[in-house]
Amino acid sequence: MFKDTLNTKIFLTDSDFEELFGPRITRLVRIMNKAAGTVCPPCNGFCCKNIRCLFYSEYFSTCPIFDRRPRECRYHFCHEVFTAAPLNGEEKDMLQQPVEELICGDRGGIARLFFLFPEFPLDEKGLASLGIKGEVEQLMREFEKGRLDEKAAFVQLKALCQG
Ligand code: SF4
Ligand code: SF4
Repeated sequence: MFKDTLNTKIFLTDSDFEELFGPRITRLVRIMNKAAGTVCPPCNGFCCKNIRCLFYSEYFSTCPIFDRRPRECRYHFCHEVFTAAPLNGEEKDMLQQPVEELICGDRGGIARLFFLFPEFPLDEKGLASLGIKGEVEQLMREFEKGRLDEKAAFVQLKALCQG
């Protein structure tokens, strides 16, 4: 079902995501995203912090790579969002289906937090293997020390997310 190149690509645009998951899932995810828009802001990225995403800062107003975020983020919704989304049981079941085709490896603690996927590519180990860990950490330090404003940090962080 999934195209090989997209299936191995880490950072996705909206159109990459639609191509990967198809129009039906994309429509359901849009509805979930709308629910997340009301549920997530007061939470301030609990899941992003707990999954140890190196792009996360509690001082950012939103995800710095929102329109390049990987499928794990695009397809992650916690129980609160699932509950808040106006989807019926069949539609919620449908959201689980493509995940089975993407899962590889053993499920672990990460899988319990981001329960739809077993591994997360933007933690220390993931970014080290992508070869951008040092650059991301440096930019995050510059931002958190006030030497880089949010807009500039977003541009530079996004520029690292090409593959
Ligand atoms: S998905 Fe859930 S845990 Fe993550 S930011 Fe939104 S409300 Fe918080
Ligand atoms: S890349 Fe994903 S985990 Fe990291 S801050 Fe953005 S949405 Fe959260």
